[in-house]
Amino acid sequence: MSNQQALQHLALTSDFVPELDVARAEGVFVFDQKGRRWIDFISGICVNNVGHSHPRVVKAIQDQAARYLHPHVYGEVIMTPQVAYAERLSRFLGEGMEQVYFTNSGSEAVEAALKVAKKFTGRRQLISFEGAYHGSTHGSMSVSGIPSAKEGYGPFLPETLLIPYNDFDALGQITTETACVLVEVIQGGGGAVMPSPGYLPTLAARCREAGALLLVDEIQTGFGRTGTLFAHQWAGIQPDILILAKALGGGLPLGAFVSRREIMDIIRRNPALGHITTFGGGPLAAAAGLAAFEVLIEEQLTERVPELEEILLERLRHPAIAELRGKGLLYGLLFHDKETAYRTQARAYELGLLSLGFLSIEHGLRLCPPLTISHGEMHMACDILLEAMGE
Ligand code: PMP
Repeated sequence: MSNQQALQHLALTSDFVPELDVARAEGVFVFDQKGRRWIDFISGICVNNVGHSHPRVVKAIQDQAARYLHPHVYGEVIMTPQVAYAERLSRFLGEGMEQVYFTNSGSEAVEAALKVAKKFTGRRQLISFEGAYHGSTHGSMSVSGIPSAKEGYGPFLPETLLIPYNDFDALGQITTETACVLVEVIQGGGGAVMPSPGYLPTLAARCREAGALLLVDEIQTGFGRTGTLFAHQWAGIQPDILILAKALGGGLPLGAFVSRREIMDIIRRNPALGHITTFGGGPLAAAAGLAAFEVLIEEQLTERVPELEEILLERLRHPAIAELRGKGLLYGLLFHDKETAYRTQARAYELGLLSLGFLSIEHGLRLCPPLTISHGEMHMACDILLEAMGE
């Protein structure tokens, strides 16, 4: 397919004209129709944590496709991949994370979690953070803090409040009127913004004090990306509701929110069918996700992250770099101006590396390769990035 055909019939979301016509993807590489390859430093935005086309994920999809695809909607019959994945996830997440509700996407999981928080607490106010990205649907966008993305789409949900991230004083705005506070451990789309030391535990304590639920969006930070299986574990906070997507599905569309039974009962009773979905947690996506999760655990990919991070930090030193921030394999490479970011991205593409900008800032690139990347491939990627930055 040509990019002219793409421009003609596909509604694109920017004036960027896609050139890469993907023939296949394997491990950390994406190949075009002519056999040229690129190191993938985007991972479909933190989706392909176990690499592209991992044989176990592909086999799980093939096997499940041959068995059944959609016997019935969510929760009305037992679909083994769904149940098995929920069981695995809750076991690894531990106390307070006993039940999983699967959705089709991250935005949808955010929507559902906000609804549940309101109904569970009987309160109406939703607090979230400036710079946060939680999705593109009306509700999830209402709690997102990237003004440019929201322009022209209002009015949004009432009784939402955006407070500045990392501002300890602003936490005083969490009160007994607040149903929930929704937070990313690291603001992904906002530019890999790290929490200040002690900030998230202080936030969690304030939520507890006010009786507001703490909703943690780990859609980008989950599944080993930041060096622990989930980022809230190193951040030292316990979510009331954990929100997952992206790598959860191993490459297929899957989202989820996870919580304790008492909270999850909100969708079960008074009335029943408190949140419903036709395809959410479909068996194909659940089988793919479960296989990817097993790969992540059995190949101990999370344990590789700190040594890969170290290569990145050691190698990426260049006068064009204003800041390198993030954790594990979720980094923002920030320049002094947006032109350098665009130029570096374009030149890196020519040299064989895929990278991507952020949503709220234009002077940076995301660095988030698959966790399966070898040391040699990491060095190769750093060579490309340094060359792309120029003299
Ligand atoms: N929250 C975060 C932190 C995200 O990064 C994203 C997707 N970039 C979403 C929510 C929305 O997920 P989805 O695109 O699957 O709806």
